[in-house]
Amino acid sequence: MTTAVTHEGTDTTGIPGSGDQLMLIDEERVPALSGRTIDVFNPSTGDLIGTTPDGESADVDRAVAVAARTFDERVWQGLSGAARQKILWRAAELIEEHATELAALESLNNGMVIPMANVLIATAAETIRYYAGWATKLYGVTSEISSPEAQFHSYTLREPVGVCALIIPWNAPSTLTVQKLAPALAAGCSVVVKPSEETPFTALRLAELFEEAGVPRGVINVVTGYGESAGAALAAHDKVAKIAFTGSTEVGKLIVQAATGNLKKVTLELGGKSPVIVFDDADLEAAIAGAANAIFMHSGQICAAGSRLYVQRSVFDKVVTGIAEIAQGLKIGPGSDPTTQIGPIVSEKQLDRVLSLIASGIEEGAELITGGERVGDQGYYVQPTILADPNPGARVIKEEIFGPVLTAIPFDDIDDVVAMANDTTYGLGAAIWTKDINKSHLLAKRIQAGFVWLNCHYVLDNSLPAGGYKQSGWGRELGAEGLDPYLQTKSVFAALTRAPFLNS
Ligand code: NAD
Repeated sequence: MTTAVTHEGTDTTGIPGSGDQLMLIDEERVPALSGRTIDVFNPSTGDLIGTTPDGESADVDRAVAVAARTFDERVWQGLSGAARQKILWRAAELIEEHATELAALESLNNGMVIPMANVLIATAAETIRYYAGWATKLYGVTSEISSPEAQFHSYTLREPVGVCALIIPWNAPSTLTVQKLAPALAAGCSVVVKPSEETPFTALRLAELFEEAGVPRGVINVVTGYGESAGAALAAHDKVAKIAFTGSTEVGKLIVQAATGNLKKVTLELGGKSPVIVFDDADLEAAIAGAANAIFMHSGQICAAGSRLYVQRSVFDKVVTGIAEIAQGLKIGPGSDPTTQIGPIVSEKQLDRVLSLIASGIEEGAELITGGERVGDQGYYVQPTILADPNPGARVIKEEIFGPVLTAIPFDDIDDVVAMANDTTYGLGAAIWTKDINKSHLLAKRIQAGFVWLNCHYVLDNSLPAGGYKQSGWGRELGAEGLDPYLQTKSVFAALTRAPFLNS
């Protein structure tokens, strides 16, 4: 059954921010210039839950022009750091005040379970507070100039880089929007956000809350639309100074190409194929639960999902059986049901991709330990799946699946497991389970990944940088490193005495 959609910004789900939504340009909700819209679905049911404008190049031009005007007129960058900090703190408070509604919206549009949506919204508020603090700490340096003939006062300024395009994927829309928006605003940039066409709702609602908190009109603009049209136009736009992109490695490469026209600064948070290594001396109960969570949480739709499991041979069967038991016991259902442990895959297209990759794994020699099937015919559910011992060149070992699909391979030797773990074009995360402290730290150095988790998975913090090695990305988000790409440095030289070699 399809949910009826009204034309007043709400649908029959009653969740504010769903239904037929317009874009946000210059603090106005506007349709696409073409008048076309894109349908938005609830992946838990397959129901239509609203529409957003099908923005394209002309809409991007409009939004970028507004952002550029606010930047040039210094309506945001010209405020003191303390003033920006206060407004950002207020935005964090507003997000907390609307947390229940935002989490419901995120779950409705993305399918994630409500407890996860609650965590993402709470984290978004904390990320804003973290970067609000940076707004008053954008220090430059002073330097003594080594001229014997004159005296100078010289210093550096840390200035916002300009208009930033923030391009967001569908898998954690609110967090990934705020992870870019908060440092961009702390730095003083103006922005155009392009959420995923699959999950546009929370970005629009969050932008409204930032405006309610006091971010001046036109500093934040949200253009909805497809990647190939709205996203590509933003990536190529000559008035955009920087792109912060999270998404697939494939599209990340297109972004880099599109950015060459005006040599935009580019940061990329891309895909992963993260290894989980379990030694026989690990706390196996914790390792089994941790490895299951690392791949099945959010139906495996997390960039750092632990999708490749390597287990020391003596405990391989025990660990794989333990994870399979957890998989079989997980309750699959709509994200909005509080008893659900695994929600749906985000879209029918993605569901088909996951199922076809599972089939390819079996064809390429893997043993199906558990799962492998679609669940029901409404909504886009896949059983948590384990494939044992695929051949090393199999697609399921090489490609990011972005579904609840684990490959499991035994190992005998530490050098072999390091080689297998690093045998990937990706380098986002890795987890190592062992009670041997020396071994864990030695291995942490040898694994090529932006995060290494020892006896845990998915631990992140606003103060620590997040990003990938190899083709998992360029640059970092979060922490001080996450602020740097939104800033540029200017050196200022003031002559205090006459400089004969310059003024003669
Ligand atoms: P995607 O690359 O298909 O799309 C991401 C965004 O880019 C969307 O807004 C899309 O509309 C836009 N886009 C698509 N084509 C474009 C183009 N030619 N030019 C400009 N923009 C374009 O990714 P997705 O399927 O939405 O998200 C899943 C991917 O995101 C996975 O690969 C996942 O690993 C990755 N991801 C990475 C991280 C990280 O921090 N490293 C975090 C979350 C997700």
